[in-house]
Amino acid sequence: MEIKSAEFTISSSRADMCPKSDIPEYAFIGRSNVGKSSLINMLTKKPKLAMTSSTPGKTLLINHFLINKEWFLVDLPGYGFALRGKKMMEKIKNLIEYYVLEREQLTCLFVLIDSRHEPQKIDLEFIEWLGENGVPFAIIFTKADKQTVGKTRQNVNNYLNKLKEQWEELPPHFISSSENGTGRQEILDYIDGINKSPKEQ
Ligand code: GDP
Repeated sequence: MEIKSAEFTISSSRADMCPKSDIPEYAFIGRSNVGKSSLINMLTKKPKLAMTSSTPGKTLLINHFLINKEWFLVDLPGYGFALRGKKMMEKIKNLIEYYVLEREQLTCLFVLIDSRHEPQKIDLEFIEWLGENGVPFAIIFTKADKQTVGKTRQNVNNYLNKLKEQWEELPPHFISSSENGTGRQEILDYIDGINKSPKEQ
């Protein structure tokens, strides 16, 4: 798939304020600083579409971007940012939970994991929660350019082996770099494939 148009549609502070349409949604989530905004900008080739996490207030909102007038790319708030107050954490948790569990338009949730790190408890728990709730998801290992190809492969394999302890079948996964565009075509083609597949009734 090539991206012909990418337009910001709306920021929502509550999941029930999201657009009322039946356009399929592909949402992106991960811990703060995992490289989510950079990835969204890389995928859409719009360097300023998603504002980076340093933009005040932005991280508490669900942001919808209409792509090719065909599907929504949804930027979800980052989770597990320890420096926020307890009340704020609760608000973000509710927002994420409501969107992920209740949003019928959600077609695939991309969970972003920093490819440099060992498997972290918070991400593994989040992935387990998705599985328990039957949420369709895929994993994107980000920032692959920060190390050698071999090291990335090794870290990703470690991660997948860890997931295999819990899962019979591994989720689809991608390796990305917002610096050099690695993974862009694969991720877009994956989305395109789902959009073109016959709808389940
Ligand atoms: P977010 O909080 O998940 O939206 O993360 P950002 O997209 O704001 O990225 C956090 C930091 O990581 C920024 O300094 C980015 O420049 C850097 N970054 C993000 N993606 C990549 C990548 O693929 N490669 C490299 N080298 N740096 C990245």
